[in-house]
Amino acid sequence: MLILVCNVGSTSLKYKLFDMPAAEVLAEGKTERVGRSDAIFSYRNRRNGFAEKLEGISVPGYAEGVRLFLRYLLGEESGALKSMDELEAVGFKTVLAKGYYGVHELTEEVLAAMEAYVPVAPAHNPPYIEAIRVFRSLLPDKRMVGCFETAFHTSIPLARRLYALPYEWYERYGICRLGYHGASHGYIARQIRARAGERFKLISCHMGGSGSICAIEDGKSVDTSFGFSLQTGIPHANRAGDLDAYVIPFLLSQGLSMPEILEGIGKKGGLLGISGLSNDLRDIEAAAREGNARAALAIDAFCEAVIRYIGAFTAELGGMDYLVFTGGIGENSVLVREKVCSRLACLGVQFDAAANRDLQGEGTISAPGSPVTVLVLPTNEDLGIAQTIWEKFPAEPRK
Ligand code: ADP
Repeated sequence: MLILVCNVGSTSLKYKLFDMPAAEVLAEGKTERVGRSDAIFSYRNRRNGFAEKLEGISVPGYAEGVRLFLRYLLGEESGALKSMDELEAVGFKTVLAKGYYGVHELTEEVLAAMEAYVPVAPAHNPPYIEAIRVFRSLLPDKRMVGCFETAFHTSIPLARRLYALPYEWYERYGICRLGYHGASHGYIARQIRARAGERFKLISCHMGGSGSICAIEDGKSVDTSFGFSLQTGIPHANRAGDLDAYVIPFLLSQGLSMPEILEGIGKKGGLLGISGLSNDLRDIEAAAREGNARAALAIDAFCEAVIRYIGAFTAELGGMDYLVFTGGIGENSVLVREKVCSRLACLGVQFDAAANRDLQGEGTISAPGSPVTVLVLPTNEDLGIAQTIWEKFPAEPRK
């Protein structure tokens, strides 16, 4: 079953064509700088080795970006497909839609529900809506599937999802903890299931430009640090994470405007906000090494939030068998992993500092015999989407 996964950024389109369930990538492509006349397009057919990179081309919008990729996908020399009939579905790592929190075919109703939540995900939903409409118009007979980032978290019990607010706000507006990074945490859960079997208690730490911690029991999400929006949980690159709601009316009373406050929370917060330096942890670690106190404080604040969630989630899970670090920070920051793990001996983590320092790529950073196995695993969200679609629509003929 061939599944095309499209990852839509605010100025980029990335594609991977998967053969499922073998999880083999047959072709991949990327258009950067969509909307400009100096766009970059790259394409690779992994079946026959064909590769091409075009620089300085005009890609005025998503429609042209998608058409370009499809042309290569079907091209005589470049093509990984003989015809579109071979393709079963196109999958998208969509973020959220009002009332649709799982895996859904992207009908006009679902797209309208994504539009309804543009105010909750202003940077993510508009480009996805546009790109999906382009795909729907170019491939009207194909199954378009949205694997909403909230999907993996629909298994969280209501008592953990609810905010202690008037219950009608949950009923009327859907205000509750929804959770995100579902494709990544779901992929990590499948990786652990492949090692551990069906029964396991896992805490997955996806830490990148955005970060979230997820408690997973027997493959299912049972809690996560993200809430209703992507503005909550642990600090992010430039977004605040958890915040007392009353900070907002207080700052308004002090004369700040709502746009100024939202900019502080959503663009000038997080690692950037505390360090005052950069939203990139590499820069912050370098500054901290040179003695910059605010940089060191930003790293500590980030690690404290991660530790707080790991502790809380271990209690909720009633123990922890596996702790996994993934995402740009989780996979690469030796310092963050050390600062976090060295504080978790009380939870059964016997940390192997030398293994952590020497690790290249993926591997184990707990000592042999540690009650908790600590792993660094690269995430693969695109494969997570393809796996989800394959599990949900296994080679079922399209209506
Ligand atoms: P996104 O969430 O945007 O997909 P990534 O998962 O790629 O982002 O993670 C990006 C983050 O990973 C950046 O903040 C970057 O600083 C951090 N990162 C990447 N490499 C390293 C490294 N070697 N050391 C510390 N942080 C790193």
